[in-house]
Amino acid sequence: MDRHSIKILLIDDDEDDYLITRDLLSEIEGKRFKLEWVPTYETGLEAIGRGEHDVYLLDYRLGRYNGLELMREAIANGCQMPMILLTGQGDREVDMEAMRTGAADYLVKGEIEAALLERSIRYAIERSQTLEALHQSRERLRHRAVELEALAELSSALRTAQVVDEMLPLILQQAIQAVGATGGAIFLTEPETGNLVLRDLHPLVRGLLGLRLHAGQGITGHVTATNEVYTSQDLEHDPLAQLWPQIAKRLPPAKSSISLPLRTQERTIGVMHFGFSEQHESTTEEMRLLTSIADIAANALHRAEVLETLEQRVVERTRELEEANAQLQELDSLKSKFVTDVSHELRTPVTNIQLYLHLLRRCDPEKYAQYLSIMEEQTGHLAVLIQDILDLSHLDMGIIVMEAVPVDLNALIQQIIDIQQIRAQTIGLELHFDPDTSLPSVQADPNQLNQVITNLVDNALNYTSTGWVKASTQLDLERNQVCIQVQDTGMGIGQKDLPHIFERFYRGDQVGSSNIPGSGLGLAIVKELTSLHGGKVEVESQPGEGSTFRVWLPL
Ligand code: ADP
Repeated sequence: MDRHSIKILLIDDDEDDYLITRDLLSEIEGKRFKLEWVPTYETGLEAIGRGEHDVYLLDYRLGRYNGLELMREAIANGCQMPMILLTGQGDREVDMEAMRTGAADYLVKGEIEAALLERSIRYAIERSQTLEALHQSRERLRHRAVELEALAELSSALRTAQVVDEMLPLILQQAIQAVGATGGAIFLTEPETGNLVLRDLHPLVRGLLGLRLHAGQGITGHVTATNEVYTSQDLEHDPLAQLWPQIAKRLPPAKSSISLPLRTQERTIGVMHFGFSEQHESTTEEMRLLTSIADIAANALHRAEVLETLEQRVVERTRELEEANAQLQELDSLKSKFVTDVSHELRTPVTNIQLYLHLLRRCDPEKYAQYLSIMEEQTGHLAVLIQDILDLSHLDMGIIVMEAVPVDLNALIQQIIDIQQIRAQTIGLELHFDPDTSLPSVQADPNQLNQVITNLVDNALNYTSTGWVKASTQLDLERNQVCIQVQDTGMGIGQKDLPHIFERFYRGDQVGSSNIPGSGLGLAIVKELTSLHGGKVEVESQPGEGSTFRVWLPL
């Protein structure tokens, strides 16, 4: 105010008063005043409306009206500049009325001196400036209160929402309202792929939901990558707005946009966009409000996502536990069946031995040899049975582990064939071995493989009455596996039995009625030991024609 001249408008119907005022002002030292004068109510009102002056001096008498009326009308028109009322005679009533109307001061014309006028003008201007500052700070506070209320409302709404999909519309609605946008959209990052997926938009266009952007694509990708707010003043020509031309027709028209990252303490979980029908310059307050909304939203969404994932995990874990429980129950009933089967199988030879012991006590001595040989056979059967049961239960308990060494399969099988040759000849069967000489050695446990092949050859000899039994090996480079095959021309296996022959204690239908010895454990052991080697066993058979068993082992 000191450096520039102070512009004063005098509204007074008496030109003499103008001249006096001008003279008084010129007496004031150290300040420059620029005095303008208008003589009527109307010209005064019009000049005040232009708002070009720092202070107004209003004469009380203005033709048909008075200065107070002019003051009221000017204030009603929005004038906030200081006004000083001048009057010809001292009148306390007018003074009081002037103060009530909003006058900065009241001066009696005949008593005005230069110093008084200067002080009155100075005080009026300063008071007006103080009032203006006060007004502005009150406005700022009011604004802040509105902002805080909006944020508090959003926080409490988000607290009651349980899942992400319930939260998104609340966030959009609150933010759009707060900034007066025409629409908005929220993209969230999909953790598994890193893609940004359109999860909600307002107004809602269902066909666009689920729209997918890969990392870095469009404004959304840019905001996620930079983690900073992006403002586009011309969406149509913005090179970053790659997606806009495709979707613009389906959304309310938008000239400009603001996009903000949804950040949590750990990472950016998505992006919020807001569109405006015109160019939009954001104020600091608006940016602050939007950033706060984005922060609150990001944390609430993150919390919901974590909870949803947790819930999902609990559901999965419960299902796993239920499955494990069902498996345990099945295993438990298998165990009970195993125990029953074992007792049953053991009882037969033990009963036989008891029977022959009993007979032995009372029979003729010439029967001794026959009875002893039967008892020997039954004891042998019992020993094999117990060994098989022990092997299987050790396999179940995980006590038997595979101790892999390089094994020459052909040599191993040749040994087994040699051992079984005498038995084959005794029962009138041909026993051959056809090795694949290109077979490399395999990593395997030789004792376990011996048991697998012995069981298969043993079965083939057991269940074949005429013809031959042939073992062979084969290298399958395509499958990167070796195959051990045991083929016979025996009784074969019926369709009904085929799915069950690898089960413990299962014996074929025909076998039960024949005299062929066995316990139904041999193939169960073959299957367990083969799978311990990472391999598998297959069977092909036609009743009356023979059977082929194949064991596949990985190289
Ligand atoms: P076991 O031979 O002691 O009965 P396995 O577990 O070795 O027990 O075999 C189960 C069943 O599979 C046999 O009872 C038989 O019915 C059938 N089986 C196995 N090998 C052959 C084969 N080579 N020919 C015909 N049937 C077979």
